[in-house]
Amino acid sequence: MLLDSIDFLQKNNRNTANLKILRQSLETGSLSHAYLFCGSSIEHLSKLALFFASSANCEQNGCGTCNICSNTLKEIYSNLLVIEADGIILTKEKVVELQKFASMSAHSMGKKICIVKEVELMNKEASNRFLKTLEDPPDANSIFILLSEDLSGILPTIVSRCSVFEWDFIYESGDDGKIDNYLVANKLDDGIRKILSANHNNPVFVLALSMDLIDILKKASLTKGIDWQELISKIKSMGATAGEIKKIEEKIKAKNKRKADKYYNLGINNVFDIISAWLEDIIAVRLGASREVLNNGENYSIIKETAVELKIEKAFKLLEDIENTRNYLKYSIYTELALDNILLKLQGLC
Ligand SMILES: [Zn+2]
Repeated sequence: MLLDSIDFLQKNNRNTANLKILRQSLETGSLSHAYLFCGSSIEHLSKLALFFASSANCEQNGCGTCNICSNTLKEIYSNLLVIEADGIILTKEKVVELQKFASMSAHSMGKKICIVKEVELMNKEASNRFLKTLEDPPDANSIFILLSEDLSGILPTIVSRCSVFEWDFIYESGDDGKIDNYLVANKLDDGIRKILSANHNNPVFVLALSMDLIDILKKASLTKGIDWQELISKIKSMGATAGEIKKIEEKIKAKNKRKADKYYNLGINNVFDIISAWLEDIIAVRLGASREVLNNGENYSIIKETAVELKIEKAFKLLEDIENTRNYLKYSIYTELALDNILLKLQGLC
């Protein structure tokens, strides 16, 4: 089954519950007419939506191999429409296209499914028009699957008419993050070596390290957006009004901020991965593990020294703290404090 074979979902309660509900509604044929899928990656959301769309029309609820499944996955199935923004705004014209599709009779058996990517990019006109469609769907046979990386950017009246599913994806750092990640990893490994060696046992060093790491990530994340000044001057030269330009500017800034936040979160997660790996190694050596099985065998001598003095309950507690911090990270503005705290606790392990 397609919905059982998704390899980019975190294995956690929320995702498991989401999948269970979707499977049940497929099996009982009790589908909603509008879904809203949210998560940190529009690419992953799109894949999920196509999997679900295939499952809704496939006779076996998503075999993955029949014509309906394979054509849906390729986005060429006649009963499927995928719409997305041209650039940074989802306009009224796109919604009109969607309305036409939804009011036509189906080409073949089954549901007409319309996937709308990045719903948060709808402008006001498009949102209002789309809202009417949701309030009064053209026929019972249409299903809308809306996708968004940012729930807060969508008209609340649209959200309230959808079955909302929030997904947690496995983090992957893209190629563009490699250099910054390498910088951060080097600095952090070096810092942890110093923190663990007794003669550097001072909080000032730890706080400075934390600040440096955050600084690198923040600066790097700011370069991830699109160059809006260039785009704006292009739009100006096409004769847009001041009001229009201002709106577009706001949209791009918001989109860039989302991209920067996402990149920053990836970076912080990478930092926590590295600290956890050190902790796991120290605990493992304390429990008798040999060098070969460690995450970072090259740090064996310092890990061994630390392991001798280790307060093991504290180490387990710290691993737990790191996982908890990860979970509330995306809702918190206190990343800096959290990282300070974790590094200070690392210093207090012996
Ligand atoms: Zn199938």
